[in-house]
Parts: sequence; C-alpha cells; structure tokens
Amino acid sequence: SLSIGIVGLPNVGKSTLFNALTKAQNAESANYAFCTIEPNKAVVPVPDPRLQILADLVRPQRVQHSTVDFVDIAGLVAGASRGEGLGNKFLATIRETRAILHVVRCFDDDDVIHVANSVDPLRDIEIIETELLLADIQILQARIGRMEKLLKGDKTLGPKLEAARRLLDHLDGGEPAATFGEPSRALDELLAELRLITAKQIIYCANVDEEGVAEDNEHVRRVRALATDRGAEFVKISAKMEEDLVGLEDDEYQEFLESYGIAESGLDQIVRTGFGCLGLISYFTAGVKEVRSWTIHDGDKAPRAAAAIHTDFERGFIRAEVIGYDSFVEHGSEAKCRAAGALRVEGREYVVRDGDVVHFLFNV
Ligand code: GDP
Repeated sequence: SLSIGIVGLPNVGKSTLFNALTKAQNAESANYAFCTIEPNKAVVPVPDPRLQILADLVRPQRVQHSTVDFVDIAGLVAGASRGEGLGNKFLATIRETRAILHVVRCFDDDDVIHVANSVDPLRDIEIIETELLLADIQILQARIGRMEKLLKGDKTLGPKLEAARRLLDHLDGGEPAATFGEPSRALDELLAELRLITAKQIIYCANVDEEGVAEDNEHVRRVRALATDRGAEFVKISAKMEEDLVGLEDDEYQEFLESYGIAESGLDQIVRTGFGCLGLISYFTAGVKEVRSWTIHDGDKAPRAAAAIHTDFERGFIRAEVIGYDSFVEHGSEAKCRAAGALRVEGREYVVRDGDVVHFLFNV
C-alpha cells in the first residue's frame, strides 16, 4: 500500500504527531468504515479543495477523499540495527513503507528529556540515518552471501551480484542507496526485492513549539538547510498544535491558522507532500451517489487508472469519458459539459491527468 513510515529518536514528538493523524482519520471515519483500523496505522484524507467544489455542484450523498497511510514505527535508538530496543522489528516495518517521514525535535523544553541530553537536530538525524544505513548494509551483505552460493548453479545472477557489490561499496562509504548513481536493470530488480530503507524518499519534519510556527528558530534553519542540500522534502509542524487543529470547523480553522500567520496546517502539508513525493495524483468521479477522489500514479494510462476503482474495470476497459476539472466547474455538470462539447472520449492510451473528472465504460 502507499504508506509513509514515521521515524525519529524517542521524545521528539512522533506519538503526538501520530495522534493528530489518527484524529484526522477519525474525523472522516464515517467514510472509511471499510478500512481495518490498525493501532499503528492512520489512514489520512489528502486535503483537496477541488473535491468540495465538485460536491457543491453535484450535491452527492457522500464525498470521499484520496488517502495516504501513515505508519508509526515507534522510537529508533542508536544500536537499533544491532537489535537494541525493538530494533529489528521496527526496521522490518519501515522496509514495507514507500517513503519516510523523519521527525526531528526542534523545540527547547527542559521538562522533556532528550535521549542524547541536548537539542541538536543534525546530530539526531545522523544517529537515525546511521542506524538505517547499517540495517541496509546487513540486508545487502546477507543477500550477497546468498547470491554467491547460488551463482554456481545460476550464472544469470552475475550482473545482479555485481550491482549488489558495487552498491555495498557505496553504502560502506556512508552514502544512502538513493544516491547510488549506476542505474541498471539488475540494480532495479535488486532494489525492488530488498526495499532498502536508504533508497526511500525522506521528508524531514521539524517539530517546533508554538513560538516556532510563525518564525523559524535556529534548529529549524539547520534542518531546512540540510533538506535543501539533499534535495529532500521539508515540512515544519507543531505536533502539539496540530492535535488542536484537527476537527475544527472551517471558520475556526482558518482563524487559528491566521492567528499563527500560516496558510496551511502542518498536517495538511505533510499529507500533501507525502502524496506528491510518492508520485501520486488524483482523478475524480462525480456521481449523484458519491463524489470521490481516486489515487493513481502520475503517468498512468486510462485502463490502469480505472483499476483504482475496481480491477475488473481495467480488464474490461472500453473507453473513458473525460472532462477537465476546470471545464466541469465552468459548465457545472456532466450533461452541460456534454452539450458544450467539453466532454472528451479517450481510449486505452490516454494518460489521465490530475483533476480529470472521469466516467469509465467497461465490459464485465
Ligand atoms: P515520541 O517519543 O517521539 O513519540 O514523542 P512524544 O510525542 O511522546 O513527545 C514527547 C514529549 O514531548 C511529550 O511530553 C510531548 O508532550 C512533548 N512535545 C511534543 N511536541 C512538543 C512541542 O512542540 N513542544 C513541547 N514543549 N513539547 C512537545
């Protein structure tokens, strides 16, 4: 599934953030009754104002957002890759996720103990990333050992083994798998099998207290600079404040944000950034029963996009009737778009665009 794993040292605010995410899930839970609720997973709606605008036009019985899953991995500590704490179990869970949200403590508070006794976000990031790198090195070494044994019977393993050894050199040099610059098919296969943690995209998440929301403090500036340096995503939040924000009515919510001088809540930023960083976009279906947003990969063609609704739609795909989001809003309904010639008929090769309002025709 499309999930993002939350990592970070103990006491940096991960649970507080995860509680806010869970609250955001529950605020919409009527719509997600079909989801199994897992204690360490929050299924969070992706904020998208277009959905409400469509709903105001179509007046459906329900509105359903796209979602992103967040998985709480609990605290990693130095030594996790050697099995300290609940190390190995956590690391296995992170491997299953698609991207990483690395929460970093950027607030000073003498009442909140820091595991390394001082607030120093760059050192904290280094501790976590070292553990993640060591975990990847272990996995890769084990795989190389297995491939070396199998190579005698299966010569086709040669290129993969070679790629694995070169990648191991790269990791041994302290670099994440994401910056390994020798693309090959063998490497792609290897990465797909191993799901290395340091190959995943990272969103650095600076957790600040209320004073830090409007204006960056020194800790935040350092994390922001690191993220920029690495071409990684960066989000600043106040986990404590986010808990209070979830579930406020629209007016109150806006007032709250304005009082802090910000345009978007940290939670919304995280969800939006996560969605984009996974390479995802949304298209809409706009029926009287339901106006709904569906998640696909940027670049998916129409039959693949149809599979988001039901796998049968992909197999039996005939064609898609597509209205661009702006056209739909301009004309106000599917019927009016059809009359105005704003509805396009598209075939199997059509690459669905973000915001398309789509009606699929298919055989069963
Ligand atoms: P975790 O161990 O990373 O899950 O951290 P928690 O979410 O349990 O937070 C650790 C402690 O820090 C708790 O007592 C939180 O209330 C507190 N905390 C979290 N965020 C902030 C913040 O922005 N400012 C302050 N002062 N305390 C915070």
